[in-house]
Amino acid sequence: MKPNDRSRVAVYPGSFDPVTYGHIDIIRRSAKQFDQVIVAVLNNTSKSPLFSVEERKEMLREVTSDLPNVTVDSFRDLLVRYMKSRNANVIIRGIRSVTDFEYELTLASTNRLLDSEIDTIFMMTDPKYSYLSSSIVKEIAMFNGNVSELVPPFVEQRLAEKYQSKD
Ligand code: ADP
Repeated sequence: MKPNDRSRVAVYPGSFDPVTYGHIDIIRRSAKQFDQVIVAVLNNTSKSPLFSVEERKEMLREVTSDLPNVTVDSFRDLLVRYMKSRNANVIIRGIRSVTDFEYELTLASTNRLLDSEIDTIFMMTDPKYSYLSSSIVKEIAMFNGNVSELVPPFVEQRLAEKYQSKD
C-alpha cells in the first residue's frame, strides 16, 4: 500500500536479533490497527549483534510474508528523522514489564522532545510471551536447547546454523 497524507503509517523499531514470537505478536496486532507497518531494524554499530542487519531483515520478511501491509526496512539515522523520511508518525513499542515501561518512557519522552508530531503507542505483550526476549532465545540456542516455542522454524534453523558455524 502506498502511503498518502491520510494513511496511518506506523514504524516498529527494534534490534530483532533475532525476531521472536513476542515481536511477531506485536507486528500482527499492529497490522490490524494501521494502514501500513514498517518493521525497522536498527543498524546500531555500538551493539554487537549475533545476526547482521541483512540476516535480521531476511528473517523478518520471511515471518511477515503473509501480511500485505507490513514491510521490513533498516535505519541508522535518528528514529524521528527516519520516520519523517517514511511519512510515518506513530512509533510502536512492546511492553513486557515495569522495567520495560521505565525504559520505554524515557525513549518516548526523548523522541517527543525531538519531534512532538510523532507519537509512541505501546502494546502490552501477550502474557504468554511476557518472559520472551531475543537474548533468552540466543542463550538457549547457544547451548543447543529447544527454542521451537519461542521462534518460528525458519528462525530456529538460522540460529542452529549460526551456532554450528561458531563451534
Ligand atoms: P530493542 O533493542 O529496541 O529493545 P528488541 O528487538 O529487543 O529491540 O525489542 C523491540 C521492541 O519489541 C521493544 O519495544 C520491546 O519491548 C518489544 N518486545 C520484545 N520482546 C517482546 C515480547 N516478548 N512481547 C512484547 N514486546 C516485546
